[in-house]
Amino acid sequence: MITAKNLTKRYGKVAALSDVTFTIEAGEAVALWGANGAGKTTTLRCLLGVQGFEGALSVNGIDVQRHSKAARAAIGYVPQEAAFYDMRVDETAQFYARLKKAAPHRAAEVLEQVQLSEHASKRVSMLSGGMKQRLALAVALLADPPVLVLDEPTANLDVKAQRDFIRTIQDLNHAGKTVVFSSHRLDEVIALGTRVLVLSEGKLLLECRPNELASKLGLHRWLRLWIPHEHKDNSLRVLGQNGFTTMPNGTSIYVQVNADGKIAPLRSLQQASIPIEDFELVDGDLMPQGDSHA
Ligand code: ATP
Repeated sequence: MITAKNLTKRYGKVAALSDVTFTIEAGEAVALWGANGAGKTTTLRCLLGVQGFEGALSVNGIDVQRHSKAARAAIGYVPQEAAFYDMRVDETAQFYARLKKAAPHRAAEVLEQVQLSEHASKRVSMLSGGMKQRLALAVALLADPPVLVLDEPTANLDVKAQRDFIRTIQDLNHAGKTVVFSSHRLDEVIALGTRVLVLSEGKLLLECRPNELASKLGLHRWLRLWIPHEHKDNSLRVLGQNGFTTMPNGTSIYVQVNADGKIAPLRSLQQASIPIEDFELVDGDLMPQGDSHA
């Protein structure tokens, strides 16, 4: 469904991507993984045909360099945070249906598909973050594209909205959509991904199955944090925005740390005025299951 060969993108002297080669088969759900600045967004922007690049890239058999508009039509794109005019939900879907030249009945269909039908008469400004992301997904589905591309789609969502959103994407994947998404959250990569492409400084470092990611990357050391319940969602957001790999687990959160970077997540939380109840360092490949902390 997608082939990239020697994909390279330079911004002046910075090589945002260099010689990245991969293939994504129809029906896969592939996660792009990497630290801030690794090249995930650049890869997605190349797929969308919204920026120039060197190398070869095709989507659904269409050459992105030569026919960017046609290749783009094969993709439904969901950004990290979509901006909408403040219309009603159903008007928004109808507006984009006209823009994308989709049949008018598709507007109601896609709202149903993302479980927004009962909110159709609400104004967009009244929607929660999770509902707004569902609306962005509905818009991406209007033209029934074979591929969905999502750039950290749950980065700003609370834990429940994140899980619900990922479940919807999973259903779409099982129904046949090819999914490409970037993420900082190990739990969602494991829940949704069938394969992971790991980028590092613009290069494809390795490919693996989601459940191999932690051990392949040597993510052996974790800081386990206990955060008051009402601050948990915000702390996941802050940690994600600061480039930390997180894994919520019961009442605690695991944050991947390097030997010399143990206090960096604590500092990020402190700067955001998020209280920390307790923390401990945990060494090991696999995250312990369950939660024994009283
Ligand atoms: P993040 O998780 O922070 O979104 P990313 O993996 O998506 O990171 P990219 O946004 O693809 O990373 O950036 C890759 C590299 O290219 C970085 O070094 C970044 O600074 C650089 N870069 C990206 N866009 C531009 C631009 N428009 N001009 C100059 N440099 C850029």
